[in-house]
Amino acid sequence: PAIQFDKDKEVNVQVVLRCRPLSDEEQRLNVQKAISCIEQKKEVIVFQNSANKQVEKTFLFDKVFGPKAQQRSIYDYAISPFVKDVLEGYNCTVFAYGQTGTGKTYTMEGEMKFKGGDFSGDAGVIPRAVRHIFDALESQKSDYSMKVTFLELYNEEITDLLVSEEHSRTMDEKQRRPISLMEDGKGGAIIRGLQEEVVYSANDIFNLLERGSAKRRITDTMLNKQSSRSHSIFSITIHVKEVTLGNEELIKCGRLNLVDLAGSENISKSGVREVRAREAGEMNKSLLTLGRVITALVEHSGHVPYRDSKLTRLLRDSLGGKSKTCIIATISPSVLCLEETMSTLDYAYRAK
Ligand code: ADP
Ligand code: MG
Repeated sequence: PAIQFDKDKEVNVQVVLRCRPLSDEEQRLNVQKAISCIEQKKEVIVFQNSANKQVEKTFLFDKVFGPKAQQRSIYDYAISPFVKDVLEGYNCTVFAYGQTGTGKTYTMEGEMKFKGGDFSGDAGVIPRAVRHIFDALESQKSDYSMKVTFLELYNEEITDLLVSEEHSRTMDEKQRRPISLMEDGKGGAIIRGLQEEVVYSANDIFNLLERGSAKRRITDTMLNKQSSRSHSIFSITIHVKEVTLGNEELIKCGRLNLVDLAGSENISKSGVREVRAREAGEMNKSLLTLGRVITALVEHSGHVPYRDSKLTRLLRDSLGGKSKTCIIATISPSVLCLEETMSTLDYAYRAK
């Protein structure tokens, strides 16, 4: 397994498991379930048939959400506590990890449109976090500024999702050079050429998200990308100004990264076949390295291989140290997905 957790060590990595319901189509086809979620015990039980015997395997997580879990419960439990940390100047990251079709995007984005001034129950982590951050800042009455970036990582190449297609088409050759990534010498990354948009309201952010998702769809089609192979990273950076009792000004800078990872089948498949691994190589590097980085952080094993992939270089100052990480591992209950489900559980489980 790529990540193992030791309960006695204090680490700021939590792993939450979410199992989606069977879809209408799967129900119609009478697809059997191979997964049972015991939320109270934070356990997932997998039923496997081997040599005509049914074998059960149990996995333990920090929290388990079964097929009936609401978007709101997941936000309230796993993400909501991050908002306070971010406003106090810490960096927090949420990853959605799992096979394509298991609900990563549903969990992170869900339904993003306001309906009559409020969200629908389908709103995911991103819209809920955005609204929560603005509500918290307003009640706190400090001066603040906020900017967002939205990028896609495909084959270890960064695409800025906030630069409109129209704009990038009219840019000259020099402006269009690929976005480059450098170390800032303080453990963070500088992404040269990436657009940072200053935002003043939740609606500003929703408009950017819409623009970004539209661009993601267009470029995926144009460049014949397989969207299941790309990672998207949406980051909100907040500077909060505080005045201390001694009348000194203090600026706290925190960041929330919301990451919809590439489908995990891209790791396991290429793991099996060498040649395909090399073909898909660059893309898997980020997903594999993320696993290794988190393992190294959790095991305090000294060398943390941040430098081995773009994803971990980009998120370096948000992984480890005082920052907090939540991995939402998503699975399907279907017996037809069992192989991938096992590999997701193996990647993400917290060892007893
Ligand atoms: P992924 O991003 O992992 O490829 P999606 O988020 O696109 O998967 O989900 C695939 C389909 O399953 C979508 O139609 C989505 O609305 C639906 N779905 C996923 N998770 C849930 C859930 N927990 N409840 C209801 N529908 C879900
Ligand atoms: Mg998706």
